Amino acid sequence: MKILVINCGSSSLKFQLIDSDTEQCVAKGLCERIGIEGSMITYSPAGGEKEKTVTPMANHTQAIQLVLNALTNEKTGVVKDLSEIGAVGHRIVHGGEKFSTSTIIDDEVMAAIEACNDLAPLHNPANLIGINACKELMPTTPMVAVFDTAFHQTMPEEAYLYGIPYEYYKKYKIRRYGFHGTSHAFVSKRAAEFLNVPYESLKTIVCHLGNGASISAVKNGQCIDTSMGLTPLEGLIMGTRSGDIDPAVIEFLANKEGMSVNDVLNVLNKKSGVLGLSDNLSSDFRDIEDGYFKGDENAVRAMKTFCYRVAKYIGAYAAAMNGVDVICFTAGVGENGPLVRSLVCEHLGYLGVTIDEEQNNKRGDDTVISTPDSRTKVMFIPTNEELAIARETYRLVK
Ligand code: AMP
Repeated sequence: MKILVINCGSSSLKFQLIDSDTEQCVAKGLCERIGIEGSMITYSPAGGEKEKTVTPMANHTQAIQLVLNALTNEKTGVVKDLSEIGAVGHRIVHGGEKFSTSTIIDDEVMAAIEACNDLAPLHNPANLIGINACKELMPTTPMVAVFDTAFHQTMPEEAYLYGIPYEYYKKYKIRRYGFHGTSHAFVSKRAAEFLNVPYESLKTIVCHLGNGASISAVKNGQCIDTSMGLTPLEGLIMGTRSGDIDPAVIEFLANKEGMSVNDVLNVLNKKSGVLGLSDNLSSDFRDIEDGYFKGDENAVRAMKTFCYRVAKYIGAYAAAMNGVDVICFTAGVGENGPLVRSLVCEHLGYLGVTIDEEQNNKRGDDTVISTPDSRTKVMFIPTNEELAIARETYRLVK
């Protein structure tokens, strides 16, 4: 069965068509600037030429129509007609406490996703628009919602509650939810498979280090803690997000700079992280890495602070699980950044971690980067959130 995976943002839409039998991506692409002048679609069929077309897209329905046209195009398409697409899997950012697993989308599910809009005002409304656009154009094709938050719903109360009046949890459901769940689930399962150890008997720490970054503790097949919170701002230092700070900084900065709470949150979301720490050198880790090797003090500061925070969380999660068997690095930086992995692991001597630098400098598929005698295994595992969404979709509709 061919599964269309959709990741819909407010003005962009990423898609992949995945064959559930071979688990291969048949075609993928991206619609950008939806509803804005200069919209364009990029389309890459597997083994074919990538094409980029500037074409008007007034809304998401038009964008999805263009995606479907590209997939069924006589020359460059990959399916004869839409009946070959057996199901659509949608990435949904926030499922609140309602969804602890993926689900087939019906009216009730749509209403429940909408009820979470408050918790992810930038993402959930856009995800819903994507579902509606697909329903309009493929009314009989089953749709599945796969939530970024679902994998973390197994966290115990002591891990997800904040130390604020319980009343606010009861009234507004203010708590830690965690994100990147599809990736944390995919990578932790893959580690168990790779190491040939039952998932249910492994203590794994997954470091998802991309532009957004989060870390999770997965004990015996269940997530027991993760670093992102009510929103994706908490936890690790990221490309442009601050991660953990003293909440009192918000008022302090607002007073000093004459900013509103929204202004300060904008700084914490978009001007902080390695971008802010490097004194605006870059939010891109490739630039930070280059600068680090040249001895640029801004790059060195950003890199060291970033890695220290990751190492600190690893320590916390090793404590939370009373030990750790395997530490996995994934996502843009985790998969491609040997320097970050090496600097993080320098802090982990107490876990008996020793790194084989030759292995660490490799790229590509799942790789163990610790030495054979390292007490804790360390790996990098490329994440594949689209494949994970396609698997979940197939599981529910087959
Ligand atoms: P993601 O959000 O997972 O797509 O990751 C994006 C981040 O990965 C960006 O900050 C990139 O700089 C980083 N990245 C991609 N390739 C490399 C690389 N070869 N070395 C270091 N960082 C990289």
